[in-house]
Amino acid sequence: MSKLINNSELNNNELNKVVEFPINNKNTINKFFGNNSFNDAVMRERLPKNIYKALRKTIDEGAPLEPEIAEVVANAMKDWAIEKGATHFAHWFQPMTGVTAEKHESFISPTHEGKVIMEFSGKELIKGEPDASSFPSGGLRATFEARGYTAWDCTSPAFLKEDNAGVTLCIPTVFCSYNGEALDEKTPLLRSMEALSKQAVRILRLFGNTKVKRIFATVGPEQEYFLIDKELFKKRKDLMYTGRTLFGAKPPKGQELEDHYFRSINERVSAFMRELNIELWKLGVSAKTQHNEVAPSQYELATIFTTANIANDHNQIIMEYLKKVADRHGLVCLLHEKPFSYINGSGKHNNWSIATDDGQNLLDPGSTPNENAQFLIFLCAFIKAVDEYPELLRVSVANPGNDHRLGANEAPPAIISLYLGEQLTNILEQLKNGSTAKCTNGHCYLEIGVSTLPPLPKDSTDRNRTSPIAFTGNKFEFRMVPSSGTIATPNTVLNTIMAESLEQIANRLEKAEDFSSEVKKIIKEIVEKHMRIVFNGNNYSEEWVEEAKRRGLPNIEAMVYAIPHIIAEKSKKLFEKHGVFSESELKARYEILLERYIKQIDIEAATMLNMAKTQILPASIKYSEKLSDAINKIKSVSLELDCSSIENILNKVVYNVRKLVDSIDKLEALMNESSALHNDKYKHACFSREKIFAAMNELRKYADTLETLVDKDLWPFPTYGELLYSI
Ligand code: ADP
Ligand code: MG
Repeated sequence: MSKLINNSELNNNELNKVVEFPINNKNTINKFFGNNSFNDAVMRERLPKNIYKALRKTIDEGAPLEPEIAEVVANAMKDWAIEKGATHFAHWFQPMTGVTAEKHESFISPTHEGKVIMEFSGKELIKGEPDASSFPSGGLRATFEARGYTAWDCTSPAFLKEDNAGVTLCIPTVFCSYNGEALDEKTPLLRSMEALSKQAVRILRLFGNTKVKRIFATVGPEQEYFLIDKELFKKRKDLMYTGRTLFGAKPPKGQELEDHYFRSINERVSAFMRELNIELWKLGVSAKTQHNEVAPSQYELATIFTTANIANDHNQIIMEYLKKVADRHGLVCLLHEKPFSYINGSGKHNNWSIATDDGQNLLDPGSTPNENAQFLIFLCAFIKAVDEYPELLRVSVANPGNDHRLGANEAPPAIISLYLGEQLTNILEQLKNGSTAKCTNGHCYLEIGVSTLPPLPKDSTDRNRTSPIAFTGNKFEFRMVPSSGTIATPNTVLNTIMAESLEQIANRLEKAEDFSSEVKKIIKEIVEKHMRIVFNGNNYSEEWVEEAKRRGLPNIEAMVYAIPHIIAEKSKKLFEKHGVFSESELKARYEILLERYIKQIDIEAATMLNMAKTQILPASIKYSEKLSDAINKIKSVSLELDCSSIENILNKVVYNVRKLVDSIDKLEALMNESSALHNDKYKHACFSREKIFAAMNELRKYADTLETLVDKDLWPFPTYGELLYSI
């Protein structure tokens, strides 16, 4: 059923107005939660029963989707969207740029009377062909066959985006090349979920579960961010071009007093959070917790966990809305991992677990001996996975911003390890020694298949906050994820390495004559071989770096050195076997990451040079002029007057100006040198890291010293103190 466009309807549509949803006793959250999401409730209500059932089968079990079904769904989706004011639809996808992409198309189709009807076909729902030649493809798509296509991902609900563009129906899609090679972050994530499901179901069958059809990776991310005043932001080219400050002297007050953490949220920020929550709730994004974080002007938002795919889409939506809503409040949201030196940066805690289609959390120890044994198998599979593929986990969280954070005593080190807590570690150690595991409080013991595991502590006070991957009672919290990055990549790796471990275990268990004793044997072997990855101590300490080296754990300190692991033989074998990445897709990602790193450093260096030459130097020179004038004037009153202290200041300014000019010349020379390396991307990226980055730090030193010397009125941009305490 098509509907004629009605002008007054369009005008009546109050766009972008959150006041439409004031929360009061009549309009409680549950009344508008998910109103802009084409979720299960809407589908159930609007689709004929047989169509709904068929679509659910595709969503829940991965059954292929028939074109006739898509046709009906498209029509229902269109009617629903138009009723809510939509004029356009867009395939919404996640190319390898780190942000989402969309191309809006209106629903209109002309009639012979010079009018339009609103149309949206099954074909348009299922497949789109954006002219996608300008997205990074890492060589997967030569320009002469630049076509990429988007394909509907029906496992993540379509949603309506309301903003000044109007109301747009956004359809989550994957983005592939003409040959079906992944050009995005979502495709590999979906493939990895499939691989994990397949292997986990095998294990569950062995434990006697005949009902489960699929398992899902579940993810609940915690998103950190900064808010600063928009007017101040606009005065800083570094923030505008790179998302982080490239200059800035240490402010008199940073986070020393730890008085920002969990502090009552100020009104301006509260108003922003309230509007953000309402926007997210309308979209069906379950914004749950919010608080002030450690650094001044730093905050956090966490959602309730859901399947990895939806969590990933929702996290992208969250990042977009953080920026959008901040803008409406005269604020700017900084998602960069390290916007400011001297204070903490931002990350994302990726809480990850696996659950059956009927909601059983497989990382929950359970309360029966059988559940315990099954839990220990999944737990050990994870331990083995992390110990066997630490490099892949490391590269999955690598981005230029995270290089400033990991290992800087505010975030986990670059060394991957696992925190299990004392009790669980003890139990595993005892199982390794073949003895019956005893619980620390004495009255519970465990021999797999005989008795039950003691309840494991889920109390957050007991947690190790320094661990990169911590077991927190019934899930793993992967804490190295960059705040601005997609969570698709780390979850793709977590899912795939887990699938590999489970496959190896399932292969053995399926052949075993005595199931129970094979389970024990496997656990014992894994504990013997892989417990080196478990570390319950302080990950920020120097001793751990030494200890990790002794244990043979890799310490990959920067993004550039992590990237080659993507194309290592071991990775190719793993990803190809589980159908997550082909060799050419891996090669493409390798190229794209290197390129992204090189470009990011180039942009940062160019911004630094620009600011140093056109802002910092002129201000400093002007100040030296002012000092010289002062000296001359004083001397003109009487030569007897002692100007040495002013001369001293002048001396310092002139010295730092000279050093700054030297550093500028040096950085420029290095940038010229680096552009000659464009034929060898890896070499080029290493040069950026080792030479350009170092030269940038050197330049910054002199500029920051000048900031502490030069007249405040002459300083060309807001300082750290102003940026961090403006709201
Ligand atoms: P905190 O770490 O602040 O104590 P919680 O333990 O409640 O908070 O959870 C933190 C995050 O972990 C939330 O986003 C939550 O939804 C998510 N989470 C909880 N259980 C799971 C699970 N089984 N799988 C994935 N994420 C989960
Ligand atoms: Mg956390």
